[in-house]
Amino acid sequence: MKLEFYNTSGRKIEEFVPVSEGKAGFYCCGPTVYNYAHIGNLRTYVFEDLLRRVLAYAGYEINHVMNITDVGHLTDDGDDGEDKMEKSARETGRTVWDIARHYTDAFFNDTEKLNIIRPEVTCTATEHIQEMIDLIKKLEEKGFTYLTGGNLYFDISKFPEYGKMALIDRQNLQAGARVAVDENKRNPGDFVLWFTKSKFENHVMLWDSPWGKGYPGWHVECSAMSMKYLGEHMDIHCGGVDHIPIHHTNEIAQSEGASGKKWVNYWLHGEFLLLKKAKMSKSSGSFLTLTSLEDMGFDPLDYRYFCLGGHYRSQLIFSEESLEASKSARKNLNERILKLKERGESGDLEKLDGKALEYLESFRTHIARDLGVSRGLSDMWQLLKDPDVCDEDKLSIVLDMDRIFGLSLKDVKAEEKEGDPEIDALVEERNRSRSEKNFARADEIRDELLARGIEIKDSPQGTVWERK
Ligand code: AMP
Ligand code: ZN
Repeated sequence: MKLEFYNTSGRKIEEFVPVSEGKAGFYCCGPTVYNYAHIGNLRTYVFEDLLRRVLAYAGYEINHVMNITDVGHLTDDGDDGEDKMEKSARETGRTVWDIARHYTDAFFNDTEKLNIIRPEVTCTATEHIQEMIDLIKKLEEKGFTYLTGGNLYFDISKFPEYGKMALIDRQNLQAGARVAVDENKRNPGDFVLWFTKSKFENHVMLWDSPWGKGYPGWHVECSAMSMKYLGEHMDIHCGGVDHIPIHHTNEIAQSEGASGKKWVNYWLHGEFLLLKKAKMSKSSGSFLTLTSLEDMGFDPLDYRYFCLGGHYRSQLIFSEESLEASKSARKNLNERILKLKERGESGDLEKLDGKALEYLESFRTHIARDLGVSRGLSDMWQLLKDPDVCDEDKLSIVLDMDRIFGLSLKDVKAEEKEGDPEIDALVEERNRSRSEKNFARADEIRDELLARGIEIKDSPQGTVWERK
């Protein structure tokens, strides 16, 4: 199966050709664990999970690496502001280590509920300080750094390709930067590799280094850890679009500066989830978490289904009404799957032909073309509604598609059908009336249920009901 992705580097769709045949290695910028992930962040992790599933579906052996940022990410993506972890600790009266543990657990709890497959490697910044120091030393030896005001900076003027992936115009970068936030910087685009002179005297997380006791800049952690686990030349790097101009641009400068060669072949960026009225942001305090959606009565998979409906490179507008629509679509889907299961086993995928095969092929074409999962979802609905395809084939195809959707369709069971105590009681009363030979009442109940769109089926195993 030939895959194609839109590469931010070069801004075009390209065929995926892995560095090593049959293998796909990719790195995703993980969460900064100073707060709960908001549903915007989670959209990005769903997108990365879809990428992973598509690669695996196409037969690649996956090595997915994701970092956990537990130090060094300032409240501004440049070098301004305060360390997010330290700020959260100060505000809540907890230690930074407690904060990190708590929000890391909460993050994995959320991703598990969303059926996001856990990456092969998850690595924390605080456990890779030595790798970061080694990388910075390489950059220092090659003349990319300068030490001033106590901090070690990366000098972007030494890296001629700076900003190429992000299409940053270096002339404008310099002229357009009216005020350099940090007056120690030779160029406003320079960034800190290692902080020793913190503006925050009581910074708790400090490590010894050749440049003094301090802590690493945020960008260097991703370069150091991705190269440790995926080598100096890797297939794919992902993140949200906000990372293009600063974080990923700086990561490229450091990684390619240190190794002297091309680092990442394909850059994939997920667009933002927007709230109808406000911008979703952790720092503004106005954000929705998965738990808030659950409190509103949604299943986490309703949110996953909602994410599947938009292409990862398009902005997605979130509203309660659209999540409500996803919820009923998913309910409908589960009911259809249940019916198919009740009618028989799934067929053999290898033996598909005719229209059934066309649906599967259309789905595969869509997902292979820059993760067209929302189109794949339409293929699935068309298939389910097509009277010309038999139930066994429908079931086998949809379960195969669910390897990408991740909606747990193979686990849909009769008990999971939404219970309704009122209907259950009526069905029971009808059974009792029948056994008491009160057929008039039994028929009355059947008619009443039919009027509500509920069909009763009597079988040797008992009576079951379903919505038509
Ligand atoms: P952070 O924990 O802030 O480092 O963000 C984690 C991931 O979420 C990054 O890949 C960001 O690019 C991404 N992200 C942040 N805000 C949004 C949003 N509103 N919608 C989608 N992704 C986002
Ligand atoms: Zn990163």
